[in-house]
Amino acid sequence: MIQKPRGTIDIMPEEMPYWYKIEQTARKVSALYGFSEIRIPTFENTELFARGVGDTTDIVQKEMYTFTDREGRSLTLRPEGTAGVARAVIENGRCSDAMPLKLFYIINCFRYEKPQAGRSREFYQYGAELFGSDSPAADATIIALAKAVIEGIGITGTELHINSIGCPDCRPEYHSKLREFFTSNEAALCPTCRERLKTNPLRILDCKNEDCQKLTEGAPKVIDCLCAPCAEHFESLKSYLAASGIDYIVNPTIVRGLDYYTRTVFEFISDKIGAQSTVCGGGRYDGLIKQLGGPALPGIGFAMGMTRLILAMKACGVELPGSSKPRLYIAPMGEAAQREALCLTTKLREAGIHAECDIVGRSLKSQMKYADKIGAKYTLIVGEAELESGTAILKNMETGEQSETGVRDIDALRRLLV
Ligand code: ATP
Ligand code: MG
Repeated sequence: MIQKPRGTIDIMPEEMPYWYKIEQTARKVSALYGFSEIRIPTFENTELFARGVGDTTDIVQKEMYTFTDREGRSLTLRPEGTAGVARAVIENGRCSDAMPLKLFYIINCFRYEKPQAGRSREFYQYGAELFGSDSPAADATIIALAKAVIEGIGITGTELHINSIGCPDCRPEYHSKLREFFTSNEAALCPTCRERLKTNPLRILDCKNEDCQKLTEGAPKVIDCLCAPCAEHFESLKSYLAASGIDYIVNPTIVRGLDYYTRTVFEFISDKIGAQSTVCGGGRYDGLIKQLGGPALPGIGFAMGMTRLILAMKACGVELPGSSKPRLYIAPMGEAAQREALCLTTKLREAGIHAECDIVGRSLKSQMKYADKIGAKYTLIVGEAELESGTAILKNMETGEQSETGVRDIDALRRLLV
């Protein structure tokens, strides 16, 4: 038997109500916040992620699915959505639209990671991006949207953690302080972080290794090193959040994985779903559009991992209706009746009624068992006698009540199928 590739997931029908709930809520709430949906390619030129996500990130260094196509081009399956959305905005000339430009997406992403609960190699994200405003009011708006979606799907008890990672003006000084601190503790770092010490010391704060995390507790904090405009931006964001009634925790270890983040970074964390506890990660990326060849256009966004949202929904006891049950099951006996049953079933479906009839050739007895199993509310047995008389007995499977109906009279039948 051929099995699915390691790290991929099958989403079986029983799971779909959760996916529908997330997708419907995401679409509805995004629209309320004025965000429009965008769809972007599943693969892009590798260069886009190298530049748009950043050479020193885990994603680009070790998590990308990169391949060469038949013409020798280097392509990569999207590991995230922001770079592709930013490219599409530039390429489609939307940087000169009236700002802000507000977009959302629901996509699958690919990262070569160690699969575990809440972490897979193909995974799904709902994300939103807001371009054209560097005001902290935009940060508060995007955070409010994320919170509204998380709450709208029934997840309770998440914490919002926020931090500021400064800008190209103040970060170099912070980098050198961090480098100084970690260099004096280099022996305690994991091999990856020893490498990060050279390339991007900020990323050490994001390491999942316990020893590195412990060390990080004593590290200099970026919020103590912010330049005046960044500090003011962060204070202002906090006041907007407070004014909107959004609780937050300032967490100096939140840095986010991508290189082009500036100032605000945030995560929504659930304590109910184990180690992969971040259900939503986001931040400001004022340098990204320019980095990708567009104008200097600020932006801020977030992405949520849909399987982690589902884990949290289940942990919160969110219950959703299952799949549709048929209103009527028609049990034909004989070939002529089968034709009639098929025709009737089609007409009922055309009238918007979920009807089923036997198409596998079961005996009458096992047809009745099957009708019960699939939860049909009514059954109708059609045999030769019924065809001749043009009437049949409709049985309510819940009450046992029976009534006579015309076999070919759709309207009469519909009236009885309440
Ligand atoms: P993590 O620290 O958990 O690896 P990340 O910083 O790499 O997360 P982002 O790139 O910010 O994650 O992606 C946003 C969200 O997408 C995450 O908060 C998470 O919910 C989800 N996510 C990221 N990687 C995966 C994955 N491999 N499988 C499932 N969900 C994921
Ligand atoms: Mg990751």
